[in-house]
Amino acid sequence: MDLAHVLHQAAANTGIHAQLGGTYLCMEGPAFSTKAESNLYRSWGMDVIGMTNLQEAKLAREAEMCYSTVAMVTDYDCWHPDHDHVTVQQIIATLVQNAENAAKVVAEAVRIMPSMKSCKCCSALAHAILSDKKTVPPATLEKLRLIVGKYFD
Ligand SMILES: [Zn+2]
Repeated sequence: MDLAHVLHQAAANTGIHAQLGGTYLCMEGPAFSTKAESNLYRSWGMDVIGMTNLQEAKLAREAEMCYSTVAMVTDYDCWHPDHDHVTVQQIIATLVQNAENAAKVVAEAVRIMPSMKSCKCCSALAHAILSDKKTVPPATLEKLRLIVGKYFD
């Protein structure tokens, strides 16, 4: 089972409503969308907008770490006609509640993970190093040893 399913189960175990799956749009930030951008993202079928997951996911993969997003929504962005524009105070209040919920989900995920996780993230680079390993300078290998050293031994 992958980390996303572990986290979904952890949310269920802690009584926090969660939806498994969805599409994340990573935008340049920190910034808020314009109404036009927000409507465009919705027309593309995006479920949430954030600013960090693209970089995090790539770095986690390169480090052979499991990665999953727990997207805790703060607001409807600016597209929703039944909701006023959000204020910074509203976003911060929601962020505080989301942080409390996230801590609960992470603690539960850590508790149940050993019995549930069975993914292959920890060997994601096994076939990704195409360079002739004999040509990698020792100083470079030493810098990368923590992440890829096992493929050079
Ligand atoms: Zn994994």
